[in-house]
Amino acid sequence: MTQNKMRAALLYGPSDVRIEDVDIPSISDDQALVRVKAIGICQSDIRVIKGLSRKKYFSYGCDSYGLTGHEWVGEIVKLGKKVQGFNIGDRVIPEIIISCGKCKMCIDGRTNLCLNKQYVIRGYAEYAVVPFTNLYKVPEKIDFEEAALIEPIAVTLHANEIAKPTLGDLVLIMGAGPMGLLNLIINKLSGSRVSVSDIIDERLQRAKSLGADEVINPSKEDISARVKELNDGYGADIVIVCASSAKAIEDGFKAVRPGGKLLLFAGSIVPPEVKLDPNYIHYNEVTITGSYDHLAKDTINAIKLLSYRQINVKPIISHYVSLQELHKGIEIAESHIGLKVIVKP
Ligand SMILES: [Zn+2]
Ligand SMILES: [Zn+2]
Repeated sequence: MTQNKMRAALLYGPSDVRIEDVDIPSISDDQALVRVKAIGICQSDIRVIKGLSRKKYFSYGCDSYGLTGHEWVGEIVKLGKKVQGFNIGDRVIPEIIISCGKCKMCIDGRTNLCLNKQYVIRGYAEYAVVPFTNLYKVPEKIDFEEAALIEPIAVTLHANEIAKPTLGDLVLIMGAGPMGLLNLIINKLSGSRVSVSDIIDERLQRAKSLGADEVINPSKEDISARVKELNDGYGADIVIVCASSAKAIEDGFKAVRPGGKLLLFAGSIVPPEVKLDPNYIHYNEVTITGSYDHLAKDTINAIKLLSYRQINVKPIISHYVSLQELHKGIEIAESHIGLKVIVKP
């Protein structure tokens, strides 16, 4: 590798990812150049790679360098002249959302819903460029692999704030993939009793070992009947759907108690048609809501939870691959055989 070149993943067309040598990007006065140390593969990255994303973040070809990788952590190697508060060698993660600060959502403090939102992405490369105002320091206590999970933890904390579980609530989490398991960890920390459902027994085992009070396999038993049995005949106080199938959403809806809440955590590549009984919502005052992305405070809180060792997310990482092996990592993440796949560029 020559001095000015780096390895990066480029997307030439749907599912056409190539690892190539490109120029190390230059930085402007207010930016930092960061050597990427670890990056988690997110299902949303896979959607972009396949050309199935709702939004398009970049063009194909050379401009796609780094792809949509957003769950990354690294070390600062170069600073622009106007950067303040950071030094070479600082361990950092990006605040991936750049919000406009002017639209109604930003003024209401809901920057995750900003109408003019842009992202700091491009983590699937040896180097990334970030404005210093969008960097957070990562304490030494958090290793790079865990730090790659800060963004998914932040997204989970945001959902937790919307779900607002209170002590002793029965929370049902549908789906025991990496995000379902993070929701389990955060809800346990909130003092809830947590049931987790998934059709893969191996994932349910993992949920058990991470503290799930009960696990339910909907291919073997009726979720709502089981949840009612677990909660004195009532359904779940809160249901968090971390799977994108219509069946998961419909099953989750049936499992909510009167006055309870259904939170749609997962996006869907193709929005499924879902059948929900409007009368059940009306006569039982069921709240249906969603959660998406995170706020800056969620990122800060995610860093605190990890550095104070209030949560252990390492069991959620199942595979490590190099950047050269990105295809293999994507296959693993897509096949649901593992959990979180971390790429080490
Ligand atoms: Zn993500
Ligand atoms: Zn805005």
